[in-house]
Order: sequence, then structure tokens, then C-alpha cells
Amino acid sequence: MTTSKTVAFHTLGCKLNFSETSTISRLLEQDGFVKTDFDGLADVYVINTCSVTDNADKECRQLVRRIQRRAPESMVVITGCYAQLKPEEIASIEGVDLVLGAAEKFNIVDHLKTLTKGDSTRICSCDIEDVSSFHASYSLHDRTRTFLKVQDGCDYTCAFCTIPMARGKSRSDSVENVLTHARTLAASGVKEIVLTGVNLGDFGKGLQGGKKREETFFELIQALDALDGIERYRISSIEPNLLSNEIIEFVANSRKFMPHFHIPLQSGNNEILGLMRRRYRRELYAEKVALIKQFMPHCAIGVDVIVGFPSESDEHFRDTYDFLHGLDVSYLHVFTYSERANTHALEIQPVVPVNVRHERNKMLRNLSHKKMQYFTEQHLGQTRKVLFEGHDKEGMMEGYTDNYIKITTPYRKEWVNGLVDWELR
Ligand code: SF4
Repeated sequence: MTTSKTVAFHTLGCKLNFSETSTISRLLEQDGFVKTDFDGLADVYVINTCSVTDNADKECRQLVRRIQRRAPESMVVITGCYAQLKPEEIASIEGVDLVLGAAEKFNIVDHLKTLTKGDSTRICSCDIEDVSSFHASYSLHDRTRTFLKVQDGCDYTCAFCTIPMARGKSRSDSVENVLTHARTLAASGVKEIVLTGVNLGDFGKGLQGGKKREETFFELIQALDALDGIERYRISSIEPNLLSNEIIEFVANSRKFMPHFHIPLQSGNNEILGLMRRRYRRELYAEKVALIKQFMPHCAIGVDVIVGFPSESDEHFRDTYDFLHGLDVSYLHVFTYSERANTHALEIQPVVPVNVRHERNKMLRNLSHKKMQYFTEQHLGQTRKVLFEGHDKEGMMEGYTDNYIKITTPYRKEWVNGLVDWELR
């Protein structure tokens, strides 16, 4: 009898990374590996890294050290954005056996077959300019909802961002392939799909039969809406300049696309938006929010915002604060700017002191809290559909309304993966 090899995963960063870890895990499981807990013993450890995380290298080093103490004979594989950006740096960490860049992460099965512990660290990474293939991925959370990656990479040049360097140019799946994945997911019981990508609104670029393919995000959501089996879709995040009025109107009239948008703003001051090399000004953002609210007064709107970008003065920040304060949005995701190698932002002066960055972050987080409270209060007394997830969190379960209000309630097995009419109180 042969004993199966075990593999354990640790993911840093975004939903895209989580969906890719899930896919890598399924590839290894299909090859006979058994998935096990990262804090336990495994034959192979895979760390999927992120370049946005502040201390990517520190975190990575700590994780490898932990593995080395616990299981010095195990194989350690590092992949993800940080592995693409700094392969040599990662390879120099003692205990790392294999570094897989953007083009190689889904070939992990083959790489592991030809690797022996004790060999010198192998780096499999190519120039990001040469990465043009698309690999679909999805993560499954107890079969309730899934993050389905439909697009990868980005052709923009935002001054603070390393993602284009880590993930390459914009490319995506075909509408036809996405529909096939959605059917498979529906057949396995998934009720909600969250469409995920780096720059989702840019969906449609790719190759088919060696020829350039031109499809649009609008075509994708129309096709998914017409598909039987999936009850809910969400759009994980979409750039304001790519959120067309026809998409907003379509979502408003769709029963399947949930009234929920997440739209990066990054700054509420036009001068800073210009320096950030963003492709819109705040007036456009305000127009989009107003249009969404006109069609769907109950719609949840989340906002990404960065504080402490170089040259952001107190006045610039106050401008952002006031703009967000007056905007009919539901919650904010606040990021503190931090320096990234090879980005254009490094050339912009003056730098904002770190303590000021943190103060600004706190102010916006407080504002976010108030916005969320206000948004929830507006819906009290209404009955909305909640999709409950399967995790039993110390006797409690969680779910979200169509418009993304989180509900926590004592665990009831019969509600798992079910749409329940819920009166908001
Ligand atoms: S749109 Fe800008 S922030 Fe987003 S991934 Fe592309 S370059 Fe980065």
C-alpha cells in the first residue's frame, strides 16, 4: 500500500490569490496529494504570496522558518505575486526549494515530480512581459459561494501599484469558458458566484485559436444572467471609468446580479487622482454613485481609498474626507500608502510621515463604520433574502443579504446554502 503525500497551503493577499490556491490545491489532489492543515505536518508546503502586503518578505521568511522548525525534511514551494517580483530574494531564504512565478504556478505538479529535497533552490519564473496565458480558477467555500477568476493582469499604470509587474498584461477567459465553469459550479451546488479579476471591467482581451478575441464585460454579465442554476452573482470590484451606465442599468433590472458594487476611488481629490495616474476624476465617480442610487436606492456601494499617497497634504486629505462624507456609499476599504519598489509614486515628493498616514487611516475607518451603520439602519423593517454559509462559528452562522448586509445568527443546519427571507431588525 502506498501512502499519499500530504500538502498544506497558506495564502496571503486577495480573493484572486485564494481562488488560485484553491485551484492549485485541486490540481495536486487530482495527482494523489491529500490536503492537510498548514499548522500540522505535511510533505509539501505551498505559500501563495502577495506583493500588496506590506511585509511580504518578512511574512514569507517567518512562515518558512516555522515550517523548518516543524518539518525540516518537507518541501517548501513559494508562488504568487511576490515570487514573480522578487524570485532571487525568495530563493535566498533558507529552506525554500522551489519558486514559481506567474506563468508556472499551475504547473506545480510537474515541477514537484522532478524535485528532490536537498537540491539547490529552483527558480521557475519568466519575464512578466512574456506571460500571456490565462488560467481559470475558483475557490469553494463549503459550496455556498465561490470566487471565480475570469480576468487576470492589468494594462493600467497607476503610480502606486505593482500588480501589472506581478501579474502581467490584461487577459481573460472567454465568455463561453466562463459559462462552462458556472455550469460546473451550479451542478456542485454553488448558489453564488463572485466574479473576480485584477481589472474586471477590462474583461474580454485574450486569444482564441491564435487570434485576438474581443468580448466585453457587459456581454459576460448578460450571458451569465441568462444561465440556469446559479442564483446570485456579484461583481467583486470594477474601475469607475469602466462601470458603464448600461452595466448599472442591467444590474438594476437583473434578478441575479446583486445590488452591490465595489468601486475603487483611491482619492477624492482630483490633483492626487492625477498624480496617481487614475483614469477618472471625482466628478465621474459621483455621477456613477448617483446613477446607481437612482436605479437602486437599496444598493450597497463599497469604496477603496488610499491615504498618505506622496504629496497628499492636509487639505487634499480633507477634500477626500468631505467628498466621501457627502457620497451615498455604504462602506470604505481604507489602505495606508506604502512605498513599493519600481513604482512611479517613489518619485513624488513630499512623502507623508507614517504617523500622519495612520491618523488619516483611522479617520476614514471611523467614517466607514458610521456609513455602514447608517446604511443598515436605512433597511430596518425590510425583508431581504440572505444566503447563509456553512461554517459553524462557535454555534453561530453568517450570511449576507442581497445588498451585502452581514447577518449573524445561531447556527441552523437547514439554513446552510439556502436563501432565507430575513426581516432586518
Ligand atoms: S487598475 Fe491600477 S490599481 Fe488596479 S491593478 Fe491596474 S494598475 Fe493596479
